[in-house]
Amino acid sequence: MSLQDPDCIFCKIIAGEIPCHKLYEDDHTFAFLDIGPLAKGHCLVIPKDHHATLATMPPELAGKCMETVTRLANAVMASLPGVDAYNVLQNNGEVAGQVVPHVHFHIIPRTEADGLGYRWNAGQLDADDAESLKSAIVDQLTG
Ligand SMILES: [Zn+2]
Repeated sequence: MSLQDPDCIFCKIIAGEIPCHKLYEDDHTFAFLDIGPLAKGHCLVIPKDHHATLATMPPELAGKCMETVTRLANAVMASLPGVDAYNVLQNNGEVAGQVVPHVHFHIIPRTEADGLGYRWNAGQLDADDAESLKSAIVDQLTG
């Protein structure tokens, strides 16, 4: 049984109701070129089942998505001469930059000249915060 949302653009792409440049499909995952690419070769891997975010997605399905991400990223890199770097980006929720509420993994090829930039504003982990955070997260994992 698969889950679909009739109003979801990605579910419509999987169903063939909206055309796409399909790259790959198996029993659980689907991949296609992003129509608004940040860089040449930017593509998306999605689960065939509709899940708005990772929060509702079975970890096993997330694993299948990552198998496809790995395989596809290697194919994309091999298809772009001189390109051997890429980002895998997966946004959950509007605040995190998610636009289509159906889980998707971006594969974004990167070059020195792409102008996309890279911002990683690292802070400093406070020891007390770390201990309380660690306790809260571990409790959730094991509780
Ligand atoms: Zn969907």
